[in-house]
Amino acid sequence: MTPLKAKILRLIESTGPIGVAEYMRIALYDPEHGYYMRKDPIGAAGDFVTAPEISQMFGEMMGLFFVQAWEDRGRPARFHLAEIGPGRGTLMADMLRAAKLRPEFLAAAVVSLIEESPALRAIQEKTLSGARVRWVSGFEELSGASLFLVANEFLDALPAHQFVKSNRGWRTRMVAKKGGELVFALSEECEPDSFAPPRLRDAPEGSIWEMGTEAIAAMRTIAGKIADHGGVALVIDYGYSGPALGDTFQAVKAHSFADPLAEPGEADLTFHVDFTALAEAAREAGAYVYGPQTQGAFLSELGIGLRAERLRRANPERANEIDAALHRLARKDQMGALFKAMAICNPSLPALPGLPC
Ligand code: SAH
Repeated sequence: MTPLKAKILRLIESTGPIGVAEYMRIALYDPEHGYYMRKDPIGAAGDFVTAPEISQMFGEMMGLFFVQAWEDRGRPARFHLAEIGPGRGTLMADMLRAAKLRPEFLAAAVVSLIEESPALRAIQEKTLSGARVRWVSGFEELSGASLFLVANEFLDALPAHQFVKSNRGWRTRMVAKKGGELVFALSEECEPDSFAPPRLRDAPEGSIWEMGTEAIAAMRTIAGKIADHGGVALVIDYGYSGPALGDTFQAVKAHSFADPLAEPGEADLTFHVDFTALAEAAREAGAYVYGPQTQGAFLSELGIGLRAERLRRANPERANEIDAALHRLARKDQMGALFKAMAICNPSLPALPGLPC
């Protein structure tokens, strides 16, 4: 049994079942044994691989996206270029390299990273050694200038609530103890049918509805800053347009799906992102929303095909590898359709590259 599982079992024994969101928070962020606190989960030797780790082309496209957005927004002389959840630092390194084609952009950027994991921060320091970057603890340190922010596969890591439709109404999905194991259970209390969005009120019994409260709160904060000070936030993640029903709570360990309750602290836990809920939060905070657009279409619009062509010509011996990476990032049956890009910005400014209005 993992030390964290023993700790969660003891907690449930003393205080009763905990909500799925609380369980996820402990599993990922427990200061001693939390998944993100201890190890580097990304890459072939870890649990999952992200787009920037597949190919440099991904980060390069993001870099060009931000250079274009900065130019279209009147080239602010000082701005925050920030990444939240920067993983191994690869995305920011590739963005900064691509942005070298506009030295004025790099000169104006105050580059900040927000990272919760000490293990990943140490890797970011290595990847980005030599670059002018700083680590900050939260959004409050990104004030006083416009904000250009990227978050790739970050919002899926934030704890979300699940509700299950019962014959009495919506009940919160909990994690309880049965024998020596963790099991899913339902709260005693019930929320009325009106608790769910109108489209879900006739949901059949047993349906699961998810609410990404923390992702929505993060979006609201980012959007508020952008509405006040200008800028653009680009979020890319796996997700859907909601409100929708279904259980997307998932665990991934060593590149395979796992039981989310089996080994807390040892497997990555995520939820798919509800882009509609995020867009609503951003609009309420005064920002304009572009997308969501599928990752495949977004990367194609930004010119990843041309970039792949250039790289193939410069490195003919790597042509197969470049093609494979391009397909993995952009094809519908791979990451191209499940992953989506959405951007928010100040309403009064020109359109953003690669994204529909
Ligand atoms: N964007 C990276 C990494 C994605 S994994 C990439 O595409 O490769 C999720 C990242 O978010 C990790 O860096 C993880 O440590 C970080 N993270 C998770 N929860 C966080 C939180 N609450 N605050 C800041 N960073 C967080």
